[in-house]
Amino acid sequence: MKKLTMSNGREVEDNQNSVTAGSRGPVLMQDVLLMEKLAHFDREEIPERIVHAKGAGAHGTFTVTHDITKYTKASIFSEVGKKTETFTRFSTVGGERGSADTARDPRGFATKFYTDEGNWDLVGNNTPVFFIRDAMKFPDFIHTQKRLPDSNLPSNTMKWDFWSKTPESLHQLTTLFSNRGTPDGYRKMNGYGSHTYSFVNAENERYWVKFHLKTQQGNHTLRANEATRLAGENPDYATEDLFNAIQESDFPKWTMYVQIMPELEAESYHINPFDVTKVWPHGDYPLIEVGVLELNKNPENYFAEVEQAAFSPSNKVPGIGFSPDKMLQGRLFSYPDTQRYRLGVNYNSLPINKAKNEVYNNYRNGYMRHDDNGGSSTNYEPSHFASVSQTDVINEPPLKIDGNADRYNYDTSLEADTTQAGALYRVLAPHERADLVENIANAMAGVPEEIVRLQLSYFSCADASYGEGIAKHLGIKL
Ligand code: NDP
Repeated sequence: MKKLTMSNGREVEDNQNSVTAGSRGPVLMQDVLLMEKLAHFDREEIPERIVHAKGAGAHGTFTVTHDITKYTKASIFSEVGKKTETFTRFSTVGGERGSADTARDPRGFATKFYTDEGNWDLVGNNTPVFFIRDAMKFPDFIHTQKRLPDSNLPSNTMKWDFWSKTPESLHQLTTLFSNRGTPDGYRKMNGYGSHTYSFVNAENERYWVKFHLKTQQGNHTLRANEATRLAGENPDYATEDLFNAIQESDFPKWTMYVQIMPELEAESYHINPFDVTKVWPHGDYPLIEVGVLELNKNPENYFAEVEQAAFSPSNKVPGIGFSPDKMLQGRLFSYPDTQRYRLGVNYNSLPINKAKNEVYNNYRNGYMRHDDNGGSSTNYEPSHFASVSQTDVINEPPLKIDGNADRYNYDTSLEADTTQAGALYRVLAPHERADLVENIANAMAGVPEEIVRLQLSYFSCADASYGEGIAKHLGIKL
């Protein structure tokens, strides 16, 4: 058995009794073991993520099953059969770190692919769209999902107040209040990249791309009463389900698909393809199969691997790029920034975040720099003495952009913002529609009628029977 030591390495002789002045006397300051032990304990908690605080994760493997090299030169997709190590973290969004796994909420679905060209993070949700399409609205939106400033209680009024003033949220609301808003654990739900990203191929041609990860376990959901019961009986339901399945070698799998849009089609497509409140209908852009993500190894240490895992859509590799999607652009800053705040500026050198290929740069110092900090090598460029240099390979074609710099709302209409919500409503089976309208009506309890009526007008615009169904539950005559 190893000897217990203090952090300076000296052996601990007694880890049960503090040093006191006599057998009944007070503790002495010179008990540095006690001081160190308490001081470390006092600092065990780090800031939880402002969103996606409660999560579970697992290591895995991504295997390419179909050739998509005509769309992308990314090394991860370079040949059928190629395998890449991954780490995936699932989460709820609004709740705190101890909140219930079965809450009605989107689920985060973030995967870090440790490719041989650096880490690529696909940081999406179990929903193909989002509530808003401009990061300018994100802090306000999230405030409505948290707690009231005075009572510290969540508030239906706060949520519907915001949504009723943000009609582009209707599509995501329809998913949220359908039973897919309460998935049966993390294994039995789809993942979506949600944003539009780009692919660049070896000929330097750009395609816009949407990523889909379809569960091979089948889409299973909880009805509202079941989710509420589980929130009380087992708030860690999804965490436990994932861990136990992997422990029992019942490895969950997802099939990755992409939708591909040639670059220039974005200009004429009838939907703004960079609007994250919209999907690209499969009829227009069919799913193209790419590969399989399998989760096959549980974390050995939750804090080191899951809590310290830092995902960001800014982590990209050659052959995969961004798009003008305004929410994506905001996340490119906000995601790494939140990790700098939570984990410190050197968060990417933590084992779970570290790329598997060699990382060389001129970044130096900062809190918790725990490697050799670049040793004695030159830490600037250009230089006659530098041991690293840029590649001089341009990885992407230039992106044509025109227009005047200004603050724009996407050019859209209420009809455009409600059409796909209506399409989703009509995808649902009759019993799923019944659950949807009941879930919405229940979530409107206590909300002022003025807000409810405005919101009902959006549901009706999506589909007349959608609005009528909710109104009927609420006892409101439209
Ligand atoms: P399709 O008829 O081609 O596909 C319907 C989509 O709806 C499938 O992706 C399916 O996912 C999903 N779906 C099926 N049942 C449910 C459910 N109970 N709750 C939520 N989603 C469900 O449709 P379109 O592409 O023309 O899109 C129609 C609507 O479907 C859209 O407005 C959008 O709301 C929704 N949808 C579309 C997606 C897309 O990327 N085009 C992705 C997801 C939803 P699955 O096969 O996993 O069941």
